[in-house]
Amino acid sequence: MFNPYFIVRESEMLPGVKGAFAIRDIPKGTQIVQYRGKLISKELSEKISSNHRDRGELWIFTLNDKYDIDGSRQGNESRYVNHSCDPNCEAINYDDDEVWIETIRDIKKGEELTYDYGFDEPDEAFPCLCGSPKCRKWIVVKDYKFKPGEHEELLQKQKEFLEENIGVDDKTHFAIKKKKEQKC
Ligand SMILES: [Zn+2]
Repeated sequence: MFNPYFIVRESEMLPGVKGAFAIRDIPKGTQIVQYRGKLISKELSEKISSNHRDRGELWIFTLNDKYDIDGSRQGNESRYVNHSCDPNCEAINYDDDEVWIETIRDIKKGEELTYDYGFDEPDEAFPCLCGSPKCRKWIVVKDYKFKPGEHEELLQKQKEFLEENIGVDDKTHFAIKKKKEQKC
């Protein structure tokens, strides 16, 4: 699928994972792509989410009280825009009906495009490896208040997650194996 603003290739943040890279300078406030996918009920969303989670994928988007968007079906290249805790785009939900990814600052050709996935609560399966100095270490909304000890607990789980996932298939979200190999 052709997008005038970006191409999809291997992410620099998350080796082994696809990412979206600007193919031209893009001014702040540009709608770069609509988040498309099949509309699914909340009930189905729960089921699919856990499948995705097992595969290390994050392709369900909350649309409104009734429906979520499953980017893995009838979706487009928007699903390759990765999460960052210090993003250059944001996802805007128009009237609980359409979600667009828009730039929040001027972007230079070649930059990886990201937005903040902002989960309401930390999901054990998704430590954040965005590498930004502002990284919250977990994919969770900015104003999330960690309960006492929770952040430490999550960091410990992240450590275990990374250890456990050495040697995982390189198609998974975090591609630990590749990261390890690059470090050696
Ligand atoms: Zn992060």
